[in-house]
Amino acid sequence: MDHSHLAANWADIRRRVDEACRAAGRDPSEVAILPVSKTFGPEVVREAVALGLHRFGENKVQEIRDKSGLLADCGIAWVMIGHLQTNKARDVARLASEVQSLDRPELAEALHRRLTMEGRAIDVLVQVKTSREESKYGLPPAALPAFLDSLRQYDTLRVRGLMTLAIHTDDPAEVRACFRQLRELRDAAIDRGHDIPRLSMGMSGDFPLAIAEGATEVRIGTAIFGRRPYPDAYYWPEGGTPAP
Ligand SMILES: *Cc1c(COP(=O)(O)O)cnc(C)c1O
Repeated sequence: MDHSHLAANWADIRRRVDEACRAAGRDPSEVAILPVSKTFGPEVVREAVALGLHRFGENKVQEIRDKSGLLADCGIAWVMIGHLQTNKARDVARLASEVQSLDRPELAEALHRRLTMEGRAIDVLVQVKTSREESKYGLPPAALPAFLDSLRQYDTLRVRGLMTLAIHTDDPAEVRACFRQLRELRDAAIDRGHDIPRLSMGMSGDFPLAIAEGATEVRIGTAIFGRRPYPDAYYWPEGGTPAP
């Protein structure tokens, strides 16, 4: 397959992110792009590496396992952004550089145990449910303060910030409210002494709103790699897909 469009897509999304930063009165250097390579094969990821990309978001542990094996020579940092079952903690502890979908105490415990065995520590973001949709994973906002406090016991988990998926709707005000809530939760946590500057929020369809609300990182799949060969229902099996 010809993936020469990757370079053009990458340049285009970086330009659009920079534009959104300027529109929000922010410096483009404050907002990173995490390319989301889920469903795309190792040959596509290899082309993205050739463009200078070295961090990739994946939604399923199985895909990290398959691709990391085939791309071991590329020095890729794999970032887990999808719902993570506790029994997959072992592979994540071995293969991921970061987990953005930490959303419950049992998962923290399981990751810590496996990371300890591997002798590793990783960066983590806590995924918060800012949408009222039943289907979205994430910690309820009210549970965040106690959860952040409890994570202090795990020296293998470097908590760096928060992550969310906004509600799937055409109403920009509702989407923006999700992003705003995440920023406010982060600011409150910083006031309580947690060093968690990062906000991972915004995807191909809604990143300008996320940047306006303070995203430090946007997770971009479709706008870089094109439409996915699988429907999003495959990734959000309980329905309720995020904006396109
Ligand atoms: C797939 C996915 C993205 C990227 O979505 P696009 O709309 O393709 O940019 C971002 N975050 C998570 C958690 C995802 O699963």
